[in-house]
Amino acid sequence: MALDKTGYPPLDFNTFYNVIDGELSSTPNNVRYGINPITLENNPAVPISSLHDVNRAVEAAGRAAKSWAEVPWDKRVSAIREYANAIEDKAEDFVRILMKETGKPVNLARTEISTCVQYLREFCQLSLPSEVIEDTEERKVVTRYVPVGVVVGIAPWNFPVQVSCMKMTPAILTGNAYIWKPSPYTPYCSLKFAELGQRFFPPGVLQALSGDNDLGPLLTEHPNIQMVSFTGSTLVGKKVMESCSKTLKRVVLELGGNDPAIVCADVDPASVAKRIASIAFCHSGQICIATKRIYVHEAVYDAVLAAMVEFVKTLKLGSGEDAYTGPISTIDHFKYVKGLLASVESAKLTVATGSTKPPSDMSGYYIVPTIIDNPPDDARVVIEEQFAPVLPLMRWKDEADVISRANNTNMGLGASVWSRDLDQAERLGKQLQAGNIWINTHLEIQTSTPFAGHKQSGLGIAMAVDGLKACCNVQSIYTRPADSTT
Ligand code: NAD
Repeated sequence: MALDKTGYPPLDFNTFYNVIDGELSSTPNNVRYGINPITLENNPAVPISSLHDVNRAVEAAGRAAKSWAEVPWDKRVSAIREYANAIEDKAEDFVRILMKETGKPVNLARTEISTCVQYLREFCQLSLPSEVIEDTEERKVVTRYVPVGVVVGIAPWNFPVQVSCMKMTPAILTGNAYIWKPSPYTPYCSLKFAELGQRFFPPGVLQALSGDNDLGPLLTEHPNIQMVSFTGSTLVGKKVMESCSKTLKRVVLELGGNDPAIVCADVDPASVAKRIASIAFCHSGQICIATKRIYVHEAVYDAVLAAMVEFVKTLKLGSGEDAYTGPISTIDHFKYVKGLLASVESAKLTVATGSTKPPSDMSGYYIVPTIIDNPPDDARVVIEEQFAPVLPLMRWKDEADVISRANNTNMGLGASVWSRDLDQAERLGKQLQAGNIWINTHLEIQTSTPFAGHKQSGLGIAMAVDGLKACCNVQSIYTRPADSTT
């Protein structure tokens, strides 16, 4: 058989396995199928991991973590860099399966895979050296960061591999073993990423377990896992934290958001409308840090609404090369969004463009990009994280009032202010309660910058050196001379 560039047989992108202790492993009598949200056809079979599979993976991870922690930092960096190159080499294969599991338009799927490669490479530019706190004749105090051991990453379905690379890369780089638990809706790219990783990491350093809804709790309860890095809904995040508390696991929670965007009176309506809508309707709004509530100053409200309606009508819904907006990714979320739209109808809210019904001529889980004109602040479409192409625009006229309305939520992931007056934008931005504040932009995150949610949008930090520290225990060493009298 012809070998690929890495000296291994080519990856088979039609069959999917768990990855346990360096080997591919299946569960022959117990499999499940994801659904392609574009065609509604079954995707290939994937394993349903049992407690036995979990125990095998955790044991292997425990063994691997001990030796991987001893591997010098630069050797770990080399392995991650080679892994990134191999993912890049297979990018188009990953793009195709990512489209089938999430329904993402091709450009967005390509961006997700290339962002994974970027994250892997950029994390390797960070370092976490010991810190000398004090170095005198009397004593030396040094703080070092030691890997926690076995880290589990639990991922959502909206960015299955990108979110996981935010977790896996810092965990492995800092010397931990990592068990990848994808969402049951979208396990395919993740299992194949982990399979490819076996060429670069010793057995047990990178493993992946596919399963149904029972798998997450088996992992969060497991006594030999030291950390859970979770991304998903606030509701499940609380359950994860509760379960992890029994063994006092370290937890990082990256949870839901309901990002406001405040548009000031001095903007160019056409330009701002286009930029905000491009973000709000990307991936059909299924992005934790998408613009989800738009507060527009009354002086430009009508112009921004009109420009946004015109622009949104040009966004192509579908799955072709030219599609901007794909389907809702999962049947359960599709049902939720239909319920949300029914609430728009029953509350007699004004639909500026779009529809409260899915398009009758499309078989996938499609929702037409829809804008709701000035709903009341207590409308479901305003207070809930819609995670859908259903966007409310509301009027404002008083700064203090709009800040209070924007902050009137348990969520605090991101928020943006759009203004030509940067002093005004900064003044407003600093009053917003969120972990990421953007001025004349939104949705930008990068590995060099801490990413975290305020309030019930999260706990702990991803990205940046803080993201590396999150995967470690702190150890402070105090040393005095042997003949010291104190
Ligand atoms: P979800 O909470 O339903 O599921 C997330 C993961 O948790 C899945 O892998 C699921 O199988 C697992 N899970 C479910 N129950 C569990 C339990 N009891 N114990 C352990 N694991 C369990 O979320 P979702 O629907 O997949 O994703 C959408 C949500 O994720 C949205 O709220 C979105 O805002 C959020 N999200 C947040 C970020 C961020 O960085 N803050 C990024 C992406 C998505």
